[in-house]
Amino acid sequence: MTKKNKEPAVCKKCAKCCSYFCLEVDAPDERDDFEDLAWMLAHKNVSFHIDGEDWQLMVKNECRYLGKDGCGIYETRPRICREHDPSECDYGSVSDTEYYDADIVIAELSELYAYRDEHFPLKPRKKKKKKVLKKKK
Ligand code: SF4
Ligand code: SF4
Repeated sequence: MTKKNKEPAVCKKCAKCCSYFCLEVDAPDERDDFEDLAWMLAHKNVSFHIDGEDWQLMVKNECRYLGKDGCGIYETRPRICREHDPSECDYGSVSDTEYYDADIVIAELSELYAYRDEHFPLKPRKKKKKKVLKKKK
């Protein structure tokens, strides 16, 4: 959300806020829910960011209107862009390679399955009782 001479001093003009979007997804309640989460995560440039009970699907995909001088539609940019407050921008606290300050970031299927197995472990199967066959007298 950069535009020359329009940002408050706090904005680093890094344009990270124009390079991704996040959507809230339902946090998993049971082991089976990870099937759908795995499908989402199988797509390129997608990760999950977890803060407590809050699960966000993060899609790293640059805005089509971001140019080398910043926003190409600054005067008519969407509301989310207009309301974005650089003074609350996360990027002051994270490194250049990170996008969003979350407790847990899951970017690989192996990480997702490890999370699933830790929080929703498989229940041990009940042993079937063996039938004891007896000869009829
Ligand atoms: S419309 Fe402009 S401000 Fe909004 S994300 Fe795209 S480049 Fe950034
Ligand atoms: S991510 Fe933050 S610091 Fe970077 S351009 Fe956007 S508002 Fe400014």
